[in-house]
Amino acid sequence: MLENATTQTVEVPPAPRGDGLLELEHHYTPRQKKSVLPTMYDLAKLGFFLFGFPKNGFVSIDVSKECNLRCKHCYFFEQDFIDSELDVDMWIDKLEALKRTSTMKEFPFMQCTWVGGEPLIRKDLIERGRKYFRWNTVVTNGTIPLPNWPDVNWYISIDGDEALHEEIRNKKGIYKRAMQNLKDHPNLQVTIAFCITKQNAHCLERVVKDWYEAGAGHISFDFYTPIETIEEPMWLPFDERDRVLDQLIALKRIYQDFFIIPERVLRLMKQDICKSVTDHCMFSTHSTSFGPTGAVKEKCMMGPKADCDRCGCVVPFYMASLTDRQLIVEDAVRELRFAAKRAASGVLTALVG
Ligand code: SF4
Ligand code: SF4
Repeated sequence: MLENATTQTVEVPPAPRGDGLLELEHHYTPRQKKSVLPTMYDLAKLGFFLFGFPKNGFVSIDVSKECNLRCKHCYFFEQDFIDSELDVDMWIDKLEALKRTSTMKEFPFMQCTWVGGEPLIRKDLIERGRKYFRWNTVVTNGTIPLPNWPDVNWYISIDGDEALHEEIRNKKGIYKRAMQNLKDHPNLQVTIAFCITKQNAHCLERVVKDWYEAGAGHISFDFYTPIETIEEPMWLPFDERDRVLDQLIALKRIYQDFFIIPERVLRLMKQDICKSVTDHCMFSTHSTSFGPTGAVKEKCMMGPKADCDRCGCVVPFYMASLTDRQLIVEDAVRELRFAAKRAASGVLTALVG
């Protein structure tokens, strides 16, 4: 039994702990939703479900060719263009030109993910450029104070528990610094993005627990995608990945909305089905990724050297999950069942109490 924010006592549906999937104790208190009304993004998701994705509705921009870290698994510095970048005015000219050649229906463009290098090294580009998009996501390593932009979805990338994160990222003190950055901005929507590799898969539970307890809004997961020129040992083979996905499903059933991705995304990432998603990658066909020079990258934001057959990026699976009607209905039924169990448990507690 747990106390939630409105003092109602609720029973968390038991997670499938079978086969020793989880080792730590997890305590989850349902958070109050800010509003019961659907957000604009909820409505957009309904649109994707009904009509599919708009072509070129999604853009990613490599904000800077610089980063204040050098992580072992970084794809960014393996690309060929990284010795130059557009200045901010040139980027704005480029976005203005796109606006001029777009129809009223297309503009503002749907969604932009601002990545890097480290995007907060050039805050001024995002400051000026984000008005061209309905929704903006900034993916940062969390070491630079977050600007107070409540309209942005923030992602802080984390690569393990404290020790491993700092080993992979070659810098001491940055785990706690990212956590402090989160705590200093309770008004911002911050999601933790955990990239799972062979080296850090064992600390998955610890990372989920740490960041839930630190007050992050959500957590999201990718698996490391091999890049031709980076050493292989970081890639988690499919059998091991399936087991980690089972762990994630067990954790999702405990942490519910703290996991930003629906359970069906995790099922789509399993080896028996993942290739059917990546062979028709919607991230590649429905988005445009710009490198720091403004040139369009092949494939996706990871560039032409990314290995699609072993892709662990959550985006194509998430996009597939928004249009796969059967999986959406199955997830909705499961969530309704959980909600009914919680409501019944609340009534029972009130009667007994
Ligand atoms: S923080 Fe991000 S951009 Fe910087 S080196 Fe690490 S993975 Fe690459
Ligand atoms: S690497 Fe993954 S996200 Fe990129 S194009 Fe290939 S399948 Fe899509």
